[in-house]
Amino acid sequence: MIKEYEKLYEQIPASTCKDGCFECCTNMIQFMPAEEANMGGYTYTGKCNHLVDGKCTIYTRRPFVCRIFGSSSIMSCEGCTPERYLSEEETRRLFREYVSIEGKKSGK
Ligand code: SF4
Ligand code: SF4
Repeated sequence: MIKEYEKLYEQIPASTCKDGCFECCTNMIQFMPAEEANMGGYTYTGKCNHLVDGKCTIYTRRPFVCRIFGSSSIMSCEGCTPERYLSEEETRRLFREYVSIEGKKSGK
């Protein structure tokens, strides 16, 4: 199951965050069950439990939302420099594919 998410992750342009920023990691995030398992769980206490000393300790296993934020023209972040911005259409397509993965598993 996580392999299907990883195929989607590959379609998100990489981005560079401004030095020392971890602002988005202080917001509560949403993810799919397979992503939660891949992350090794998630707890929120004013920040993500995987944020340690201002850095994501599970960077290569972070979920979809952590990847697409800052890389899309409709979810941009002023501290973020993506290789390119996903268009609104591309972003909506990726979200549709993202939510359909769980549906396929449960036969919906
Ligand atoms: S998983 Fe990593 S990038 Fe995502 S909120 Fe947590 S610390 Fe931040
Ligand atoms: S995406 Fe934006 S808010 Fe989040 S860490 Fe990067 S620069 Fe900061």
